[in-house]
Amino acid sequence: MGKILGIIGGGQLGMMIVEAAKKLPEHITKIIILDPTPNCPASQVGAEQIIADFKDEQAIIKLAEKSDIITYEIESGNSDVLKSVENKAEIEPSPETLRIIQDKLLQKSFLNENNIPVPEFMKIESMSDLEEGLKKFGYPVLLKARRDAYDGRGNFKIDSHDQIQKAYNYFIGQKLMLEKFIPFKMEVSVIAARNTKGQIKTYPLVENIHEENILRETIAPARVSENVAKKAERIASDIMNVLKGAGVFGIEMFVTQDDQIVINEIAPRVHNSGHHTLQSSETSQFEQHLRAILGLELGGTKLVRHTIMYNILGSKSFEGKYKPIFISEPNTYLKMYGKEISKPLRKLGHFNLVAKEGETITDLLKTMELLKEKVNTQPLS
Ligand code: ATP
Ligand code: MG
Repeated sequence: MGKILGIIGGGQLGMMIVEAAKKLPEHITKIIILDPTPNCPASQVGAEQIIADFKDEQAIIKLAEKSDIITYEIESGNSDVLKSVENKAEIEPSPETLRIIQDKLLQKSFLNENNIPVPEFMKIESMSDLEEGLKKFGYPVLLKARRDAYDGRGNFKIDSHDQIQKAYNYFIGQKLMLEKFIPFKMEVSVIAARNTKGQIKTYPLVENIHEENILRETIAPARVSENVAKKAERIASDIMNVLKGAGVFGIEMFVTQDDQIVINEIAPRVHNSGHHTLQSSETSQFEQHLRAILGLELGGTKLVRHTIMYNILGSKSFEGKYKPIFISEPNTYLKMYGKEISKPLRKLGHFNLVAKEGETITDLLKTMELLKEKVNTQPLS
């Protein structure tokens, strides 16, 4: 019997989950999105929408009453409310997993206790904790908001003593943690999945290039030695073995100068660095997520074709309607998210550039340089 799926969050991630769900009609008969923005991306591809804040208790209860199973595309949901509706709908990943992951301090403590490598960190509750932390870790360090951060907006890098007060003031009223700065060689990630029956699969390691703290480009596979890739993929499996709950997880990591792997953070959801799987892999991360939460056999995770994903971000120089974006190159797959308004650095779409027979990552990077120019956002008038 098919199920009714509820999704908290109807942005591009929700949209691509809905599109994947449409290919599994015997398992999912209907999808309901909870999102505060009318006509959000997921609602444009056929999901019914409850218009309310992600943390609105009554709306979450309503969603649970209408759904057989609930998942989410954002990690800022209310895990307590989700826990309280577990008798109405199955919640995947589990509210307990969400509770741990959505607080960076709890998350790092959990990983540390399970012998997963993380940067040195400590809890910060006062200016004197911060002074103590700086003595212990030296400079630079990152002061981080424990909750609700995204696109690096919850981080403040402290390079010297005279920045301490400014850093502390930046986060008025927020719970904080301090983390040693890792002078990494590369940022990488692993998309991993676990289904409700405990089956675990990981995708090959990919390389992530950020601009102004926002993911810009993902190179699949990462340009690292086989040893490093194996190590990262093993650590991802270790994490999946200790984390409860089913679904796809995005595991962000650093490769250090001496080729060690250190975990940055885990997202309990499909992840921007997994968008390449739409064209590159045996199973897309979106279908995999559905297979995982429905308790189906997980799909293959082999990278069939080398691919680079490029995020189309709103121009920094304007806010408003923008000219339609087209790209007609061979082996290029454009996905726009149906957002009417461009804002500086807003994620408006992405495209995947897939390797032709015999093409290497170096070849793809050259082509990519030319294609980037074609997707600049420009005001409509
Ligand atoms: P996202 O951009 O994934 O939504 P976020 O806002 O939660 O994430 P983080 O992932 O914690 O923030 O950090 C954003 C970026 O800051 C990382 O991708 C990395 O480039 C840098 N960063 C974070 N922690 C560290 C660290 N300990 N050492 C060095 N750089 C770091
Ligand atoms: Mg991050």
